Amino acid sequence: MTASARTGRLVLLVEDDASIGRAMTDALESHGHRVTWCRSGSSATTSVEAELPDLVLLDAGLPDIDGFTLCRWLREQHADLPIVLVTARDSDIDIVVGLDAGANDYVTKPFSTNVLLARVRAHLRSSDAVDPDAAISLRTLRIEPGSYVATIDGQPLDLRRREFELLLYFARNAGRALTREQLLSDVWDLHWESSTKTVDMHIVSLRRKLGDAVEIVTIRGVGYRLVVP
Ligand code: CA
Repeated sequence: MTASARTGRLVLLVEDDASIGRAMTDALESHGHRVTWCRSGSSATTSVEAELPDLVLLDAGLPDIDGFTLCRWLREQHADLPIVLVTARDSDIDIVVGLDAGANDYVTKPFSTNVLLARVRAHLRSSDAVDPDAAISLRTLRIEPGSYVATIDGQPLDLRRREFELLLYFARNAGRALTREQLLSDVWDLHWESSTKTVDMHIVSLRRKLGDAVEIVTIRGVGYRLVVP
């Protein structure tokens, strides 16, 4: 174990497959993370109670407990803990269930190690964000939450209040998959029964105003993800 691996951020890996777990542990440790590897849901809950990790990589298919159930439990205990669901099931419904269970993001097997590491870095970065008024810069886009100003290359965008709030929410969750229901409840403060068409209409308008500064990608059957080109 290297010095950085001893001092790095703690990733809790919950994965029962020995070869996948070993490969993930090696990749994470070689990039400076500390890793606690648990092969079952029950050992994962014990581990979380012993030391709170900075991020959880959670396999959906575990021998003793459903990964979605464990995800829900983790979310109830720790509202701000980044959870990335790792699933072999890439059907839309499993992804939606996972995100609704409180996962911040998901990766489907087989996955590229580089993509996995990039997601881990992104989620550890966004969990560091503390000041709600701190400006956010994503390439040429700059957002100043305190003054409701967003600019591209220094030029102010003409955004309606809700468009601004939606953009801010996307920026704070850059790279994460966000469901329409999540957007409705967190940006509009409405429940899922409300029409998700509202979300889609605002996205269309926001995309037009953003041009190619950042991209709001549609994830079919799930929702949207903000991508910085
Ligand atoms: Ca498994």
